Amino acid sequence: MKKLKKLFCICLTFVFAASCTKSSLSFTDAEIEIINRYPQQKMRLLIYDNKNDLPVLRQQTKEFSDADLQSDIFQNLKNQMLLTVLDTANTGVGIAAPQVGISRRLIAVQRFDKPDEPFEFYANAYIVYFSDDKRTGIEGCLSIPGRRGNVERSETVAVKYIDTETLKPHTDTVSGFTAVIFQHEVDHLDGILYIDKLRPDE
Ligand code: ZN
Repeated sequence: MKKLKKLFCICLTFVFAASCTKSSLSFTDAEIEIINRYPQQKMRLLIYDNKNDLPVLRQQTKEFSDADLQSDIFQNLKNQMLLTVLDTANTGVGIAAPQVGISRRLIAVQRFDKPDEPFEFYANAYIVYFSDDKRTGIEGCLSIPGRRGNVERSETVAVKYIDTETLKPHTDTVSGFTAVIFQHEVDHLDGILYIDKLRPDE
């Protein structure tokens, strides 16, 4: 009986430890310092031609924990990314966290396919389906100012992400220009830039 009790205690400790890992904050001190540097303001955009910024733009990003998604620091990051993409001096239709120096799987996309065309955030986002049907269109990037080029993208994609309110996984299927923005922004999360995908003649 005593042995059983001990086993039960050990199991309970494991369950507790496992749930702690999943629900503990994973923001690094460096990430918190960057986010706090721009309190409720637009953040500095990382630029491709800056030799210190380039390695960050090329980095593979990390996911958020559930606790991260419920934290004030995550809310601040979202608000500040939105201010950055809406900056009238240099407005974009999407932004990815690495572009403000945060190497995490978070993007904001302007949903041109929805009424009022809102910006929406997608955490731990991945594209899980690319249609064979392709389209070619002009793209630019806030991190590569002054350049544009033609890129071939899938007409339709499915995006898997975590809903930051419910913390449940969701998959959205998106087509047209909005699907192009999703592909461009999710590429950022894997260190891929649109200039990697330009047609050879550009
Ligand atoms: Zn970009």
